[in-house]
Amino acid sequence: MPTKLIFEDIFESSNLLKPLGSKCMIVTGKSSSLNGSLSDVEKALNNQNIPYVIFNEVEENPSLENVESAALLGISENVDFFIGIGGGSPLDATKAISVLVKNPHLNKNNLVDGNSYPTYPVVAIPTTAGTGSEVTPYSIVTLHEKETKTSISTRFFPIYAFLNPKYMESMPLNITLSTALDALSHLVEGYFNTNANYLSDKIAEAGFLSFSECINSLKSSNFTLKDREKLLITSSIAGIVISQTGTSLPHGMGYSITYHKNIPHGFANSVFMGEYLKLCRESMEEKVDKFVKLCSYTSLESLISDINLLTKVDFKVSLEEVESYTSEFLLNDAKLRNHPAPLTKFHIESIFNNSLKNYINK
Ligand code: NAP
Ligand code: FE
Repeated sequence: MPTKLIFEDIFESSNLLKPLGSKCMIVTGKSSSLNGSLSDVEKALNNQNIPYVIFNEVEENPSLENVESAALLGISENVDFFIGIGGGSPLDATKAISVLVKNPHLNKNNLVDGNSYPTYPVVAIPTTAGTGSEVTPYSIVTLHEKETKTSISTRFFPIYAFLNPKYMESMPLNITLSTALDALSHLVEGYFNTNANYLSDKIAEAGFLSFSECINSLKSSNFTLKDREKLLITSSIAGIVISQTGTSLPHGMGYSITYHKNIPHGFANSVFMGEYLKLCRESMEEKVDKFVKLCSYTSLESLISDINLLTKVDFKVSLEEVESYTSEFLLNDAKLRNHPAPLTKFHIESIFNNSLKNYINK
C-alpha cells in the first residue's frame, strides 16, 4: 500500500504539495468540507503559492456524469494535481476525475472500459471513517445505464492521505454508524476472501481488535475525539486489507439497495452481513470463531445482533424487486469469485430472501 499516511495538519506538511504540480483542483461535496478541512487545505496551498480551483458538487455515490462535469472544469483550468476532501464519494470522484483530466481525449465511458490510463497525483483527506478510499486503489462510480455501481478500471493509490479525526466531529450519527459498518464489512469481506493471505489476514485481525474498541461508542452514540481517531484508524486498516483482497458478497449485494432504495453504502452492506456471516461459518468455522473473539464477542449471533442494531434503515421492497436484485447480482462474477467456498444460486437467493424478508412490501 504505497500511500504515505500523515497524521498532522496539512498546513504543517504543505511543502509536500509543491512538487505535485503547478495548479490544484480541490474536489469535495457541499457539507463534507464544512468542518475546517477545506479552509485547512486552502491555507496549505496559499502557503505554497499554489493556485487552485474548487469543485464542490460531488454527489453521494458519484455518477459518471458528475465526474465528467468536474473533469471539464479541471481541463479548462489546466490543473495537474488534486486534493479530494470528504467521504468515499468525493475521494473516489477525485480519482476518476484525475484520469479524465490527465487524458482529455477520453470520455466518461472510458473510465469503465477495462483499460488502465495514466493519472495525475491525488491527495486524499477523509472526513468520514469507513470507506478507506484514502488507502485503496478503487474508485466506485454509479452507472445510471446499468442501474448499479462499479469500480473504474484504472486502479491507483492516492500519494498522500492526511488522517485527521477532528474533521469527523461534524458527522451526523447515521453517517458515523453507516461508515463504521462499511469499515467492518471491508475487514470481514477481506478476511473471508479468495485473495486473502497470511499478511492480509494479520492486518484484518488487527482491524477487528481496533473495531472492538469502537463498539461501545457506536452502541452509545457517544464519540470523543479519541473514539473518532480509533474509527478512522480502523477504517484505514480495513482499506489496506481490501487493497489486497477486494470486497465480496455484501458489497456486491448492497449496491442494489443503494441504487434503488437510496440506502447509505455501509448500511447497505450490513443489511446482508448477518446472512453472509452465517454462510461463511458453514465452510470456515474456525476462522469465523477467531473473528468473533477478536471483535470481543462470545457468539456470532450476538455480534450479528449488534450489527443489526446499528443498521438504521427503513425501506420497502417487493418480491419482484428482490428477485431482480438477485438475478442482477448473480451476473457479478468479480464479487462471486472473491468468496472462497463453492457457491450455488440457492446460497445467493437465500441471502437475498432472508436479509430482505423484513422489508417486503405486504
Ligand atoms: P459519502 O457519500 O462520501 O458521504 C455521505 C454524506 O456524508 C454526504 O452527504 C456527505 O456530505 C456527508 N459528510 C461527509 N463527511 C462529513 C462530515 N465530516 N460532516 C458532515 N457530513 C459529512 O459517504 P461514504 O460512506 O464515506 O462514501 C460512500 C462512497 O464510497 C460510496 O460511493 C461507496 O461505494 C464508496 N466506497 C469506496 C471504497 C473505496 O475503496 N474506494 C470503499 C467503500 C466504499 P457531502 O454531500 O458534502 O459530500
Ligand atoms: Fe465499502
